[in-house]
Amino acid sequence: MTATPCMFCRIAAGEAPANIVYTDAEVIAFHDIMPQAPTHILVVPIRHIGSAAELDDDDQDLAGRLILIAARVAAQAGLSAGYRLVINNGRQAGQTVGHLHVHLLGGRPMRWPPG
Ligand code: 5GP
Ligand code: ZN
Repeated sequence: MTATPCMFCRIAAGEAPANIVYTDAEVIAFHDIMPQAPTHILVVPIRHIGSAAELDDDDQDLAGRLILIAARVAAQAGLSAGYRLVINNGRQAGQTVGHLHVHLLGGRPMRWPPG
């Protein structure tokens, strides 16, 4: 397989290490390398999609599956007190990795609105 500069594509392809907690044919979930909460997991489509803004009609099932898997992973992680799902889209929202991902954050109280 040819090398790709996208880190999350590399993790999905098994070319870069990650602490993987879930994987299927379409979705992979792994621990964030710089956790912002006691539990911080990224739920990621295996196919490269740059951001939520790049989703199209054909991605509808996949987009829903990301949330479904995030909820299952949250239950598996024991986050019965609550958790937050976050998608940062674009520079001003703080997106730093150009491969769509859902942040699953839990294990501490969350404030609203987010910063
Ligand atoms: P964003 O800022 O794009 O919404 O979120 C990107 C997230 O990916 C950040 O929380 C960052 O810590 C995480 N991250 C960046 N590079 C890596 C990596 O190589 N491995 C893992 N596991 N997480 C990463
Ligand atoms: Zn990618």
